Amino acid sequence: GQCITHCPTGALTARDDTGKVMKALLDPEVITVVQVAPAVRAAWGEGVGLTREQATPKRMASALRALGFDKVFDTDFAADLTIMEEGSEFVEFLSSDKPRPMFTSCCPGWVRFVKLHYPQFVPQLSSAKSPHQMEGAVVKNTMKAQAEEEGKRLFVVSVMPCVAKKYECDVPQLSTEAGRDVDAVLTVREFDRMLHMFRVDCAALEETDFDNPLGLSTGAGTIFGRTGGVMEAALRSAVFLITGQNPDFSACDTTESTPEKPWISKELDVAGTKVNIAVASGLGNTAKLLDALEAGEVHFDFVEIMACPGGCVGGGGQPIEFNKELALERAANLNALDEADTLRYSHENPDIQKLYADWVGKPLSHVAHEWLHTDQTTWDI
Ligand code: SF4
Repeated sequence: GQCITHCPTGALTARDDTGKVMKALLDPEVITVVQVAPAVRAAWGEGVGLTREQATPKRMASALRALGFDKVFDTDFAADLTIMEEGSEFVEFLSSDKPRPMFTSCCPGWVRFVKLHYPQFVPQLSSAKSPHQMEGAVVKNTMKAQAEEEGKRLFVVSVMPCVAKKYECDVPQLSTEAGRDVDAVLTVREFDRMLHMFRVDCAALEETDFDNPLGLSTGAGTIFGRTGGVMEAALRSAVFLITGQNPDFSACDTTESTPEKPWISKELDVAGTKVNIAVASGLGNTAKLLDALEAGEVHFDFVEIMACPGGCVGGGGQPIEFNKELALERAANLNALDEADTLRYSHENPDIQKLYADWVGKPLSHVAHEWLHTDQTTWDI
């Protein structure tokens, strides 16, 4: 719930996984793979004394290498993959007579909330796993044979703005034949703590790229870290899937604020079909929206929910500055990265296209279902 993700110190629930991760880093028989969530790049520098200008995603990649990780991948890549799967699912959903709306499923705080308090809506959750689980499944399935050839095993660490993801990665139904998707989740606070422990001089680090092929991403993947971003990224690709043409960015924009309402909503014209969307963040707002849906007061086709106010930029695992709310500042940071990106549509990510060509086939294929989706009705967290 909200108090869980917003415990001001994190001490109530935040399990410390730094020991587990350090053990893996020191084990010569382990290939350590780390991935970083979209919202982390907007906040990691706050805990190690960097300015926003210094705390670039590429310097963050160097900081992770300085801790000793063998491969530094980007969860933004998997955010693009999530969009391919969830966008395709939504296009199929639109032409079906399934009950409206379809809900996003990338926030385990929200997924837990709906399973506990509004179970009637669980069948309407997207079956897409959250991006870091998808990235882990791809790592484990595509790199396992090579690791075994070297006599090693893979250990996947996710650096997340989130406490709920620590519990999500333990859900047995989110594993594949290749094993657990993700072996350990570190919050941004734990990541920053490790940088202090290892005495990494972050300001002095040169910038380096993420490793490929699971490190290349688009601006659409980056905005996953703020409220409205998943919806916006999904619409950019869903419109393309329906019309064959990229939409205008403004057509998908969900950043307008309506302080008098706990959610924002919009009616879009997608190739002649009216699509009603809504976006809410914070579990109080979420409850109001679900009650309005239940009462038949509102009708939507697609709804994005993020448990933390403002989305993952305001996540329970982010650095905490006493009496200061930094979600908006961090969201502006992500928007700037999206605008500066030369790739802004998930379906245009060349490494995503290659993953489908080499391994997965196409969105919603058999392999996609094995690796990237889950039956939400079969498990609780
Ligand atoms: Fe975690 Fe983000 Fe959801 Fe907060 S909004 S619970 S940080 S996934």
